[in-house]
Amino acid sequence: MEINNLYNILFREIEKNRNNTVFEIPDEKKIIYKDFENIINTIYINLKNKQVEPGDRICAQTSKSIEVIALYLACLKIGAIYIPLNFDYSIDELKFFIEDSKPKLFILDKKNKYINNDNLKKIIKLTLLEEISSSDCINIKSNIKTNTFNSNDNDIAAILYTSGTTGKPKGAALSHKNLSSNCLSLNKIWKFSSNDILLHALPVYHVHGLFVAINCSILSGSKIIFLPKFDTASVLEYIPKSTVMMGVPTFYNRLIEHKKLNSNLCKNMRVFISGSAPLTIETWNTFFKKTGHKILERYGMTETGMITSNPYLIEKRKAESVGWPLPEVKLRISKENLNLKDHLGEIQVKGPNVFNGYWNKKNKNTDFTKDGFFKTGDIGKIDNEGRVFIVGRQKDLIITGGLNVYPKEVEDHLNKINEIKESAVIGLPDKDFGETVVAVVVMEKNKNLTPKEIQNTILNKLAKFKVPKKFIFISELPRNIMGKIQKNILRDKYKDI
Ligand code: AMP
Repeated sequence: MEINNLYNILFREIEKNRNNTVFEIPDEKKIIYKDFENIINTIYINLKNKQVEPGDRICAQTSKSIEVIALYLACLKIGAIYIPLNFDYSIDELKFFIEDSKPKLFILDKKNKYINNDNLKKIIKLTLLEEISSSDCINIKSNIKTNTFNSNDNDIAAILYTSGTTGKPKGAALSHKNLSSNCLSLNKIWKFSSNDILLHALPVYHVHGLFVAINCSILSGSKIIFLPKFDTASVLEYIPKSTVMMGVPTFYNRLIEHKKLNSNLCKNMRVFISGSAPLTIETWNTFFKKTGHKILERYGMTETGMITSNPYLIEKRKAESVGWPLPEVKLRISKENLNLKDHLGEIQVKGPNVFNGYWNKKNKNTDFTKDGFFKTGDIGKIDNEGRVFIVGRQKDLIITGGLNVYPKEVEDHLNKINEIKESAVIGLPDKDFGETVVAVVVMEKNKNLTPKEIQNTILNKLAKFKVPKKFIFISELPRNIMGKIQKNILRDKYKDI
């Protein structure tokens, strides 16, 4: 009987690829699929020895490593729900995730700054990734077979927290079917094969670096050059040895600044893919001029996986468009409740890739339409060829270097500071990060704080990427008749600072 667990789907061609390299960490190590499977099975047995059962949640806040990918895959195999967490999160944020997801285990590695944190230890026992991935710890007598859990399509494989519109993060619960349908589809349209070498410089706690990049590569038995993070010099060094690169626009903005980037360097590359934030036409054009490559832009979200993609056929790729909906995805532009001109409206999607709702949130009415379409909050249009264009966001979201920040969450923290009367957090254009987080602040009478003092106060509460980089102090926030802060006026007024 065929098992629809994502694990089995990812490894369906493993027999052919057992001796292929799966990961190469420059100057460190190479590992083949066969040995990688052994690490996954070691973790599987260690998790089972810790009584992890299908449906249990496993939180992981670790650095980027082969072992943490093996942990993700071992969770799939057991049927446990994997919850990757950004390394940057504060203790308060972690507390929230633990309360919300009630994990059986909280896994961190030796590089984690909270490893000896008493506040964290008070709420949950910490488990070391190094220990559960080491075969020394296996209880040989345990006699556990590493069978893949026979999951249903709707069983949840992972929860990814996205910072929420209401000020608290929300856990997007993604099923085995959501993830498998998406990577099967991307594999086909992007023509992945076991000859591919993926240059991986993305974080692995996000949909892009984990589900798009890792799932697509493993599914096709390809090799992954696994860089700890994006660093222009090392990416340029490994481009000639790779065939595919996936990145956020910030990566491409940095690469085009470098004089080493040219078409000769990229001659081994099959395709450069971009997503998670808007890619400007300037970046697309400059990259094309310097390398002869037309960046393939795609569009997706944590809640939906990938939704659209430009075509693989180079002549048909187009700058500024995110391409056509993936074969199984229904996409429509809805004008309901919006007063937008021309053919603009909210992008709404339905398909096997779209999640079923947020963890612990029963009421789906705000996120889905009555006929089951997910409301993305992105504003777009479709041209007469069927290509999708994203022109803006209805949701009050800032995307900085590919990471999402909901202003409400930051404002809540700013407004708790006694000296601050009120605040409005906005995203302003930034050449490198796409957008930068800016706080417009009104101080209480006769009170003063420097930007540094404000930053230091909230740094303990919020991940660093959410902390405003710039502060603008004004005496009053602009409001409309209903009393709503007019962020569009602020964005317009300060766009050139
Ligand atoms: P995330 O859940 O972090 O993947 O962020 C999803 C959001 O990123 C989407 O709702 C869009 O607003 C934005 N996004 C993703 N891909 C693109 C793209 N190619 N162009 C413009 N915005 C994008």
